[in-house]
Formats: sequence, structure tokens, C-alpha cells
Amino acid sequence: MKERTLSIIKPDCVSAHNAGKVIDILESNGFSIIAMKKIHLTKKQAEGFYIVHKERPFYDSLTTFMSEGPVVVMVLEKDNAIADYRELMGATNPKDAKEGTLREQFATDIERNAVHGSDSKESADFEIGYFFSALELV
Ligand code: GDP
Repeated sequence: MKERTLSIIKPDCVSAHNAGKVIDILESNGFSIIAMKKIHLTKKQAEGFYIVHKERPFYDSLTTFMSEGPVVVMVLEKDNAIADYRELMGATNPKDAKEGTLREQFATDIERNAVHGSDSKESADFEIGYFFSALELV
């Protein structure tokens, strides 16, 4: 069944000029881009997006990183999109990411790890709604 997930190309990956390579890999792996925008988040907007991590020790550092420069945000669609995109991203820590995954190719460390992807249907619904209105998702 077709499913949608939210992808973010993080500031480290955008500033390294690797956004196009990531998009190419996504399309080659069967993901359709339903909506896409490039935006520079404020610290408050990054905090709102990562609100579930509010109590984690890396929350301040993570949200500072996510607001240091522009990101590319996309809604991706394919059968089993949420799990398949998590698989394509690779482990959170690039040291543990399998060869050929996005994080193995483009991440620097556990925080500056190039890409974000929703981890469940509930997260995907919240995250897609955080960035895109219904009109942008037709
Ligand atoms: P994800 O679902 O693989 O993105 O991982 P999480 O939801 O656990 O964490 C969200 C994001 O926080 C990660 O993608 C990293 O950018 C960052 N992060 C996760 N764990 C750590 C950590 O131990 N230290 C730091 N500095 N950042 C982390």
C-alpha cells in the first residue's frame, strides 16, 4: 500500500552540496517526491519539530545544528515508504550505517548525520503537517 514519509536533507548535507545526490538516490530507489521545499529553520522551529526529544541531552545541540543553515524538506511516497526510507538512510550513527546507505555515504557523526526520516506512521503524520499544508500535498 502507498505510504508517505517526511525526509529532511540536513544542513550539513545541503552545505556540502550533496542534496542533489540524495534526491537522485531517492528517485532511483522508487520514491516519488510529492512536495519539496528548501528552508532555513529558526531555532524555535527546529525545537518544535524535535519536541519528542525535549528531554534528551543532545536536544539543544541538535536544534542548533538543524537551524545553522538551510534544509531541504520532502514528502516521499512509495509502498512501505516509512520503513524503506529508514533502511535507505542507515543507522543514526554513521559508524554503524551499512554500506550504500545515505548516512554511510554523507554523514559526519551521530549528530551531523545528513538526513532525517519519520520513524512511524504517527510521526510521519505530525512531521508532514509541520511543514506542508493540505493544499501542497495534492
Ligand atoms: P534518527 O531517527 O535515526 O534520526 O535518530 P533519533 O530520533 O534517535 O535522533 C534524532 C537526531 O538526533 C539524530 O538523527 C541525530 O541528528 C541526533 N542524535 C541522536 N543521538 C544523538 C546523540 O547521542 N548525540 C548527539 N549529539 N546527537 C544525537
